[in-house]
Amino acid sequence: MPEAVLQAMHRASPNIYGTELVELANSLYPDLQKVACTSGDAVIYIGNGHSAWEASLTNTLSRGDTVLAIVTGRFTLGWIDIAEAIGINVEAMDFGSDSTVDGDRLRQTLDDDKSHRYKAVLMVQTDTASSVNNDVLAVRSALDAVDHPALLMVDCIASLGCEEYRMDDWGVDVTVAACQKGLMTPAGLSFTFIGDKAWQAHAKADLKTAYWDWDRRVNGKIFYQKFCGTPPTHHLFGLRTALDILFEEGLDNVWQRHRNLARVVWACVDQWATDGDVRCNIKNIDNRSVAVTTVQTGTMDADRLRQWCEQQYGVILGVGLALEDVYADMPANLFRIGHMGHLNVPMLMGTLVAIDAGFKALDYPHGSGALEHASRTIANLSAA
Ligand SMILES: *Cc1c(COP(=O)(O)O)cnc(C)c1O
Repeated sequence: MPEAVLQAMHRASPNIYGTELVELANSLYPDLQKVACTSGDAVIYIGNGHSAWEASLTNTLSRGDTVLAIVTGRFTLGWIDIAEAIGINVEAMDFGSDSTVDGDRLRQTLDDDKSHRYKAVLMVQTDTASSVNNDVLAVRSALDAVDHPALLMVDCIASLGCEEYRMDDWGVDVTVAACQKGLMTPAGLSFTFIGDKAWQAHAKADLKTAYWDWDRRVNGKIFYQKFCGTPPTHHLFGLRTALDILFEEGLDNVWQRHRNLARVVWACVDQWATDGDVRCNIKNIDNRSVAVTTVQTGTMDADRLRQWCEQQYGVILGVGLALEDVYADMPANLFRIGHMGHLNVPMLMGTLVAIDAGFKALDYPHGSGALEHASRTIANLSAA
């Protein structure tokens, strides 16, 4: 989180009846649409990502509907959990813990669904547990190839503002996002973006509830209805500043910066991988997320490394998200390097040095020269 975002939030309570707050909130919707590259309506909820998961389902589906969920790690499982709890049948299609969607297999499954039981296809763009980046267009193409009418719903919680994402060009019907990752604002706001087909589904959905209802929030005549109650005052100021920072850099440049920083991480991890058990969970570079990298440490205790980095240098690495519970062949030892949002080369290199030193201090076998590789990658990217 940029200091400027925190400073924007550090202020006295605004007048919740006044026009300043209304104008501030109204300025956010078109800018959120720009970030998701859509002309579809944006809705802001006071909640974390889970709340937008629930909102995406209740606004478009009915009790007893069936959806197809694409699993490539852990995160669609959370969405599935919410769907099942509200009476939606879920068929999960698993593509493994270290690879992306197989478009042919998906097309076949959709083609077999002649009666169009699947009302929606749920997927994550970036699975934050496995650190795979899924090709949204490939899923759109599979749906189009067999003329399947299911809604395409994409969770971009980890990837919005990091990974290139084009909701309208890619034919996405519902996008789900939250403010605390690429959007650099303290956790507490979530978003749904609504395409035309999703609005049509909304008209028939019987899971709608007053609180999550898109109609009230988009078309409500009074400001109070936009948030179904008191607006998230300070978060709105924080998000305003975060979006200003994104647009000042330019969305294309933000995506490119994330691609560049990710290359630095991969250069480093792939060099560690030349000796010992350390490796990138996602082997194929084309399928790696530019926002987060999951690192396997094989027989080496990943939590010991995490503790070492935290205690010695205050560097908090992401925990491994128990992929071994889902995939029998996954090692239990994982940590994750977050490289999303407000991040630059010096910050990233500090993290990589801490990990490299940790491997040495703890005697974990690893390829040497990883920092040199990272540095060369930076030099090449800067020269280009
Ligand atoms: C973080 C994350 C979530 C959950 O968001 P919360 O704010 O923790 O509810 C869902 N999906 C993805 C891909 C995420 O990275």
